[in-house]
Amino acid sequence: MRPDTPIEAIIGLEVHAEMQTASKMFCGCPVVDFTTAEPNTAVCPVCAGMPGVLPVINHQAVEYALRVALALDCRIAETSIFARKNYFYPDLPKGYQISQYEFPLAEEGRLPIRTPQGVRQIRVRRVHLEEDTGRLTHYQEGEHAGSLVDLNRAGVALLEIVSEPDMHTALEARIYGETLRRLLRTLGVNSGDMQKGVMRFEANVSVRPGGADWLGNRVEIKNLNSFRALERAVEYEIARQSEILRNGGTVAQQTVGWDEARGQTVIQRSKEEAHDYRYFPEPDLPPLVVGSTWIDQVRSTLPELPHVRQERLQIQYSLPPESAALLVEEPEHADYFEALATATQADSTTAANWMLGALFALLNAHNLPLNACPVTPQALATLLDMVTAGEINQNSGREVLNEMFTGGQSASEIVTHRGLRQISDEARLAQVIEEILQANPQQVSAYRAGKTGLFHWLFGQVMKSTDGQANPQTVQRLLREKLDG
Ligand code: ADP
Ligand code: MG
Ligand code: ZN
Repeated sequence: MRPDTPIEAIIGLEVHAEMQTASKMFCGCPVVDFTTAEPNTAVCPVCAGMPGVLPVINHQAVEYALRVALALDCRIAETSIFARKNYFYPDLPKGYQISQYEFPLAEEGRLPIRTPQGVRQIRVRRVHLEEDTGRLTHYQEGEHAGSLVDLNRAGVALLEIVSEPDMHTALEARIYGETLRRLLRTLGVNSGDMQKGVMRFEANVSVRPGGADWLGNRVEIKNLNSFRALERAVEYEIARQSEILRNGGTVAQQTVGWDEARGQTVIQRSKEEAHDYRYFPEPDLPPLVVGSTWIDQVRSTLPELPHVRQERLQIQYSLPPESAALLVEEPEHADYFEALATATQADSTTAANWMLGALFALLNAHNLPLNACPVTPQALATLLDMVTAGEINQNSGREVLNEMFTGGQSASEIVTHRGLRQISDEARLAQVIEEILQANPQQVSAYRAGKTGLFHWLFGQVMKSTDGQANPQTVQRLLREKLDG
């Protein structure tokens, strides 16, 4: 490779998402919050892996998986097969995980993502159902060290979404993850609560000389639990592998972990192969058959997807693309905006700007999410109507919003109470202007002699003498008439 050849990174992501069903994937145990529930309280002989028990497929989990697969534009397999993935680990009581292997539920989908370079279609290789493992807690007390097993999470329905190696930067990988989170939340199948580990990522990274038509050896980074970790780990791997390639070396295929504190990847093992798992069809479960009636029924209940909603907001409310993109970041944001835009006389772009600017600044300052916002869309709409009608000016509007946010009063109560109503009465403004002109004869004659910059000074005097409550457009017009007429 010539030293000046650019290096291209290739990234494919495997995403694991908990399905927020009431019960587990193959038994009737409830799905509990494993960060708070008493350990091993949501466990039965099936998810504890006792001999002789039989799993039963959770209908709701399959339906959730179908929602995701359809939203990702996948081809759904009428018949898919559960398989045993055999390996030993203390958090896996059966000694195997029930997953899908050769015949997954869905294949060949795609997810559009919005990058700084525009919209890109990331192909989805497969979507399949499996069960989660338990959780281990390692401890050390004095000279006693050990590990505790909690099986509350064992057997929870898990969806695995595998992309094609279609991404090229750490940022793209992050955006793909965020876009998927938004989609799963919109579909109501996952809470998106990253702190609780309900979405986990594995990133596969390789590099090659730019323009090459082959793929290099991949390194798989396991167990990334946040978008920040995902982006940093991929960034680090790309830099590490590029260095090896530039020095004429070969990247070894391996599995690594991410050390958040040290900011580097750490080798765990050389890459395992599929045959190490001795996959075979799960003999205790029938093939999973989803007929076209069921698929059509699920399809008909899909909500409007985020990228579709974004386009609709852009067209229906004539919004700039950036605002529409910000509004669909969370479903609640777009809901708030639509309620606001419907309730107000102000034009929609103005409404979006108030919401994304002034209102979001207040939410940030008070560290509140939008669904805890003390100002309802209808209350904000009333305020915007007053600004649009010229009853109060922009600056007063912002002050009123601050007070609405902290005090809970309505816009008109605050405006009346604080005497903020804007003066648009022309006769009254004409009189104020007359007084200012009479009090400043030198400036007036200098202006008329050609020092036109003095207009702004005179304008400022009028505004000052009305405590900023004069309607600025009216003052401008009347002042010009007086001076030039
Ligand atoms: P496994 O289940 O063993 O990890 P898969 O074949 O299912 O293997 O691939 C997993 C992921 O690795 C997919 O997202 C795929 O896009 C990605 N991938 C495969 N080859 C490469 C490569 N050379 N570079 C980067 N990503 C890759
Ligand atoms: Mg993998
Ligand atoms: Zn159970």
